[in-house]
Amino acid sequence: MNLNIHSKLPDVGTTIFTLIGELANRHQAINLGQGFPDFSAPRALLDRVDHHVQAGHNQYAPMAGVGHLREAIADKVGRLYGRTLSPEREVTVTPGATEALYCAITACVSPGDEVIMFDPAYDSYDPAVTLSGGRPIHLPLRLPDFSIDWQRVKDAINPRTRMIILNSPHNPSGATLSAQDLQSLAELVRDTDIVLLSDEVYEHLVYDGRVHQSLLRHDELAARAFVVFSFGKTYHVTGWKTGYCIAPPDLTAELRKVHQYVSFVAVTPIQHALADFMRDCPEHYRELPTFYQHKRDLFCRLLQESRFRFTPTAGTFFQLVDYSEISDRDDMAMAEWLTCEKGVAAIPVSVFYKEPPAARYVRLCFAKEDDTLTKAAELLCRI
Ligand code: PMP
Ligand code: GLN
Repeated sequence: MNLNIHSKLPDVGTTIFTLIGELANRHQAINLGQGFPDFSAPRALLDRVDHHVQAGHNQYAPMAGVGHLREAIADKVGRLYGRTLSPEREVTVTPGATEALYCAITACVSPGDEVIMFDPAYDSYDPAVTLSGGRPIHLPLRLPDFSIDWQRVKDAINPRTRMIILNSPHNPSGATLSAQDLQSLAELVRDTDIVLLSDEVYEHLVYDGRVHQSLLRHDELAARAFVVFSFGKTYHVTGWKTGYCIAPPDLTAELRKVHQYVSFVAVTPIQHALADFMRDCPEHYRELPTFYQHKRDLFCRLLQESRFRFTPTAGTFFQLVDYSEISDRDDMAMAEWLTCEKGVAAIPVSVFYKEPPAARYVRLCFAKEDDTLTKAAELLCRI
C-alpha cells in the first residue's frame, strides 16, 4: 500500500543520543555521550522499590501522583526555595521531565503562538511546540559563556509570544542563570500573558558554591511558571523516567488535562519508593553538588594534559570541550570519529541549534565511576 503520510515532524530523525549510543556499543567505546550514570542508585532506594512491589503497590496511582510523594516534594520545595505549595493543587508527578515539558507546552501553545527558546536547546522542546502548531523562536545564547542576551529577548517578544522556555543549569553548556537574569526576565514579562516553562532537572548539580536560581524562589516569576524536575538525575535512575511539575493551581489544572490523556499516571511502586527515600534520606540531594563536583574536578584535572580546551562546567554533569586545536572536522564528524576511532563517545553540540555557530565543541558526560573517567581521559589525552 502506498500511504501518503503527512509527517507532522518532517525534519526530525532519530535522536543524537540513540545514534551515538548505538555507535558506542558497536565500537565498544566508553560512552560519555548520552547523559546517564554508570553507577548504581542508593541501595536503600532500590530496596524500597522491591518492598512496594512485593507489598502490592502495583495498580494505577492517583492521576496527579501518589499523595505522600507529592507531600515530600512540597516539603522539599519549601525547605530549598522558600515556597509553600499545595500538594493537591500545585504538584504533579509525571513519567519523566519530558512528559511534563510536553504536557505544559501542549496545554498552553495554540496554532500560531510563538515560543522563545535558547540555542543550544534540549532536543524535546522544538518538536513539542511544532506538534502544537506553535512557532519555535530560537535565540542563540551568547558565546563563550552561554548567557542570555536579554535585549534580544525583548526584541523578540510580541503579542504572539505565548511562552518562554528556560533551562538552568543548562544542557549542554552547564551554564546557570543568576538572580540578575531572573530580574531581567521578570521585567520583560511583567504586564504580558507570557507563560514560563523552566526546565530545572539539574537543580542539584551546581558547583563552586553557586546557588541554583530556581524560578520558584521568585514570586512574580513562579506565579506564571511551570517548573519541571526529574528524579532520574537526582537519584541516578534515568531509566525510571519519573519527574514532576510545580505550577500555580490554574496552570496545574491545564497541565493535568493533558497529562491525564497522554499517560494518565507515573509508575506506582517507584513513586512510593521515592517518597520513602526522600523522607528517610534528605542528605542524598544535599550531598550531590559535592559528589558531582569531585567528578568534574577529577575529569578536568585529567583532561588538562589533553589538547582539548575547556572551562570547568558551572553545573549539570556535562563538560563541553573545544577541539579546534585538534581537528577542523565539523562536530558531528568529530563525535563519530571520537566514538569509532578513539574509543570515547561524545555528543556534538550543533544538533541542539537551529543555526549552529562556527564554534567547535563536543559534550562529554562525567556522571561516571572515577575509573571510567580515568580510562576515558587517558584515551582523550592520546589524541
Ligand atoms: N531536560 C533536560 C535539560 C535534560 O537533560 C533531560 C534529560 N534527560 C530531560 C529534560 C528529561 O528528563 P527525563 O529523563 O526525566 O524525562
Ligand atoms: N538528557 C539526556 C542527555 O542530554 C538524554 C535523554 C535522551 O536520550 N532523550 O544526554
